[in-house]
Amino acid sequence: MDHKVKYLFVTGGVTSSLGKGIISASLAKLLQGRGFSVTIQKLDPYINIDPGTLNPYEHGECYVTDDGAETDLDLGHYERFSNIPTSQANNITTGRIYQNVINKERRGEYLGTTVQVIPHITDEIKRSIRLLGQTGHYDFVITEIGGTVGDIESFPFIETVRQIKWEMGNKCAVVHLTLVPYLKAAGELKTKPTQHSVKTLLEQGVQPDIIVCRTEKHLTKSIKNKIAQFCNVSPTSVIESIDAKSIYDVPLLMRDEKLDIEILEKTGTPIPKTLDLHNWERFLYNLNNPKDEVSIALVGKYVELKDAYKSINEAFVHGGANNQVTVNIKPVSAEDIEKSTAQNFLSDVHGILVAPGFGIRGIEGKIKAIRYARKNKIPFLGICLGMQCAVIEFARNVLDLKGAHSKEMNENTPYPIIDLMEKQKKIENMGGTMRLGAYNCRLDKASVSYSLYKKEMISERHRHRFEFNNDYRKIFEENGVRLAGINPEEDLVEIIELKNHPWFIGVQFHPEYSSTVKNPHPLFTGFVKAALEHKNKK
Ligand code: GLN
Repeated sequence: MDHKVKYLFVTGGVTSSLGKGIISASLAKLLQGRGFSVTIQKLDPYINIDPGTLNPYEHGECYVTDDGAETDLDLGHYERFSNIPTSQANNITTGRIYQNVINKERRGEYLGTTVQVIPHITDEIKRSIRLLGQTGHYDFVITEIGGTVGDIESFPFIETVRQIKWEMGNKCAVVHLTLVPYLKAAGELKTKPTQHSVKTLLEQGVQPDIIVCRTEKHLTKSIKNKIAQFCNVSPTSVIESIDAKSIYDVPLLMRDEKLDIEILEKTGTPIPKTLDLHNWERFLYNLNNPKDEVSIALVGKYVELKDAYKSINEAFVHGGANNQVTVNIKPVSAEDIEKSTAQNFLSDVHGILVAPGFGIRGIEGKIKAIRYARKNKIPFLGICLGMQCAVIEFARNVLDLKGAHSKEMNENTPYPIIDLMEKQKKIENMGGTMRLGAYNCRLDKASVSYSLYKKEMISERHRHRFEFNNDYRKIFEENGVRLAGINPEEDLVEIIELKNHPWFIGVQFHPEYSSTVKNPHPLFTGFVKAALEHKNKK
């Protein structure tokens, strides 16, 4: 039953990219700090079933949950802030809603009725929202509505919010995020876009309870009063969200603006006396008071895109803060290395990370970067495709297996060191069919990985079709590669290390997805530490 759970909705107006995800995650952090249990969900208005088949140009990074959902990257923020794992139920798209409704229609569940947007689509959206509340695990379910109010695509979601608000009264509240632009020529902050955006929301029957205003300058009292007056909210419900140095400052900025108190009051929730954010503040202290800095190259195919490697960037923030070291990421395009030398791009860095990816573009550049890291004993972390490239590099240049490759890149390679998983060979559909989600991995106690995780059995998230070909295990082991992590259920190689190298690790899984502020990932913490040691030796 979800009788005690409260539902909070976060909508956005004026423009996209205002940071609804960060506001949602910050709100969750504050409520957790008050002792409440919280989960966050994202509703995306596009028709794809999930973002798993979208390329990074379209949608940035695809995030993966423990239970194998391929999701919007905002779920990464939710986990990094709240430290609560998300699941299939935390990201729902219009495509998924329609698919569920159409499946029900085919099963005859609506027999005799015309299936319509209202009530059938909105009922299905409602069901998806309440699913999390009904687990009984949460005091608050925060639902972020993707897109901007007024978009055709998001109408059924906003309509559902209207219905839920009507049905639940003060057991739910709507936070509307808008932009208050500063017009340089006029020297003024402008409230009109916010007024218009609230009007659009009102046209759809939803009165926001709280308005959070993104701004580059502080909102004066009179600006807040003006927004309050035009938008039917009290001045204390107009919350300033000023540009922050880092996303991790936002929870504290929201605390100063009393966003949590406003929410608790609006939902008739007694306000707990204390707000405990001391872990968060300690993390921020370490982040803002570094004792040193390192430079780490991120070698990949999409390095020019801000969001393509989101979780990796954030995992470096956590791992850096954990060492009190600033990590300066140097984006290096694999194709640039391909056309030139690794030395040209990598001689000034203290660590090299080769990123996950798909397809052949840039592969030879990645392999060159790995060769450079191996030969020059520079700390190296290869993730997923990055690990596969490390194996290929070793096969070609140490084991002298000329033309060794992954079957993904060359069907006819004489040495298919990386091959399709047995289970993948018969798969025809693209969406949701990779090896997805968390799998076990047993660590070799002699490995560097074991010294970092400090336990034998770990669980990490995957998203790939190809894997290390077990036929080659022996020759690798005999020549200095430690198979440091093995999946015990299916006997798959999950981690490789080089014995004759201070810090060289390739992982078939994605450690970046499970790094949070509270639990920085041991591989990233260890990698930053190794980079620092390399720098000091230099
Ligand atoms: N393309 C590789 C595979 O499918 C690696 C995937 C990845 O890096 N996420 O196995």
